[in-house]
Amino acid sequence: MTVLDIKTAGNPVLRQVASKVTKIDKRIKRLLSDMADTMYKADGVGLAAPQIGVSVRIVVIDVGDGIMELINPEIISKEGSCVNIEGCLSVPNFDGEVERAKSVRVKYQDRNGKPIVLDATELLAIAVQHELDHLDGILFIDKANSLRPKE
Ligand code: ZN
Repeated sequence: MTVLDIKTAGNPVLRQVASKVTKIDKRIKRLLSDMADTMYKADGVGLAAPQIGVSVRIVVIDVGDGIMELINPEIISKEGSCVNIEGCLSVPNFDGEVERAKSVRVKYQDRNGKPIVLDATELLAIAVQHELDHLDGILFIDKANSLRPKE
């Protein structure tokens, strides 16, 4: 088990557009496992590779249904809108209200390179949108209508 350091707002890696994964090799599989360890240790529901300082298009999510590993994820359609309170492991002191699509269809590759298309709703849809923003250098604080200090 390897828990990595989570980078916080102000670190330039969080503002870079992450590169596509071209080959899912040992290094990438190791990264996926380390990201999951780091997310669970920090009690998060999602983590994007830039948050641990690696600027590649990889996200892990667990909203309570087990670990999901998304390589090169892309949202292909969105529907509806909803407002939720979001927080972020890279913005430890604040949470805030963010408007997002209510459901999204996302395509990605799993750790075996298999292409997957997933329809996400509810918390999973929010997590997908939040984590994918990280891959484009966007933080929830850029989109939040309001921010409040966490207790
Ligand atoms: Zn985040």
